[in-house]
Amino acid sequence: MADTKLNLIAGEWLTGESEIENRNPSDLSDLVGIFAQASADQLDATLDQARIAQAEWAAYGMERKQAVLMNIGNELMARAEELGTLLSREEGKPFAEGKGEVYRAGQFFTYYAAECLRQLGENADSVRPGVEVDVRREAVGTVAIISPWNFPTATASWKIAPALCYGNAVVWKPANITPASAVALTEIINRQDIPKGLFSLVMGSGRSIGQRLVESPKVDAITFTGSVPVGKGIAAAAIQNLTKVQMEMGSKNALAVMDDADVDLAVTLALGGAFGSTGQKCTASSRLVVHAAVHDAFVEKLVAGAQAMKVGHALSDGIQMGPVVSQQQLSENLAYVDLGKSEGAELACGGQRLEMPHDGFYMSPGVFLNTNNTMRINREEMFAPLTSVIKVDSYEEALSVVNDTNFGLTSGIVTQSLARATHFRRNARTGVVTVNLPTAGTDYHVPFGGRGDSSYGPREQGKAAAEFYTTVKTAYISAGSPI
Ligand code: NDP
Repeated sequence: MADTKLNLIAGEWLTGESEIENRNPSDLSDLVGIFAQASADQLDATLDQARIAQAEWAAYGMERKQAVLMNIGNELMARAEELGTLLSREEGKPFAEGKGEVYRAGQFFTYYAAECLRQLGENADSVRPGVEVDVRREAVGTVAIISPWNFPTATASWKIAPALCYGNAVVWKPANITPASAVALTEIINRQDIPKGLFSLVMGSGRSIGQRLVESPKVDAITFTGSVPVGKGIAAAAIQNLTKVQMEMGSKNALAVMDDADVDLAVTLALGGAFGSTGQKCTASSRLVVHAAVHDAFVEKLVAGAQAMKVGHALSDGIQMGPVVSQQQLSENLAYVDLGKSEGAELACGGQRLEMPHDGFYMSPGVFLNTNNTMRINREEMFAPLTSVIKVDSYEEALSVVNDTNFGLTSGIVTQSLARATHFRRNARTGVVTVNLPTAGTDYHVPFGGRGDSSYGPREQGKAAAEFYTTVKTAYISAGSPI
């Protein structure tokens, strides 16, 4: 029997009020581990200790903080293969993606290690003679992090790294579907030179421990990535305590393929954007808006490419797509396949449950044709290896379809026209725009976030993260008396 993996409460590894099993979605006979579920009392205790630890951490010298973040980043990068294997085993993305995710998580820490040394304020003369003004950023205090399962290490890291960099304490509730990656990252962080209780891990379900965390008046800021309904509930809870909140909640991203596009490039971008991470990405290309002039050629190659994709165990060599993360997600995906067909879309390939030698949540990558932008499959985030082609007759129609959504995270255009690319960059109503690149795949040193239902609050990543993880203090200084 596997040892139970524990929560980190006020600096101590503790058992919880119950336990859950975590199984490999590629092979349900593989038990990844057993994980403690934190109790409400443990959450309260760790929040109290976080307050004490945060004051100590904020007073550390900047080079001492930098060294902590650098060590975490370097260890993640050095252990990317080992931790990427664990990530792929519990989440189901192909090993190359799991390893890449852990390495990228390390880069968030090394980037914010450097940012520890770059926290410059502003100064100004006051309107009152002899008075100076000093404007600087200070830590917010205790940050609650609620993270999803689809990027269990990277999403958490792009929140934890800036939270620590800017002097905050962290209480982290990871998704219960991917606790092993959370424990591995917490072990690395807890081994560093940090005050006792600066960093807490509270595993448990969102409905219980997550809800209690976001309702706690002991939390100063909440950062969340996940679904829109949960995000709205978190915002409603946060406002009761006037807690600062930042949320990223998925999208319905479109890739526009123009009549002058390099069709082979467009197909490569669409396949990667739609089916990478089994389509379980907030930046996935789930709407392919294709000009009629290249529609047939594009569709032929797209469908052939999707049919050729090798689906299998996340840790098998040569596979391009792993399983869906859970039975619930798989059932929802298959329901969307039925919905699409009932709405009149033509399922050109895939969208089927796949049987494998090992019992897991497998389905084939699916492509819908003859769809329009009013169908629910083109309006709701499916988080599935499914994509829809929407045929349009002009660039203007393409742009209008791209923007006709409640979401607004990413969008892309494939074109050889500089004029169109420029117009698109300026007029696509999304937080991220790409030109001749996939809608998925972003850097770590620049802002990330969207519009509409996709995001709420300040942007994440890069220097933009300072807006959420700090609060501004304005000081007025007078010499007191003349020399
Ligand atoms: P959720 O929004 O339910 O979960 C995201 C995180 O929030 C998890 O850690 C979850 O905990 C937690 N949570 C759930 N309920 C609460 C609550 N009341 N208070 C505080 N925290 C809570 O997403 P799912 O994992 O259920 O995925 C459902 C759909 O959400 C997906 O199909 C996809 O459409 C979208 N999604 C979007 C993501 C994105 O990157 N934008 C990421 C993940 C999902 P736990 O799961 O442990 O109960």
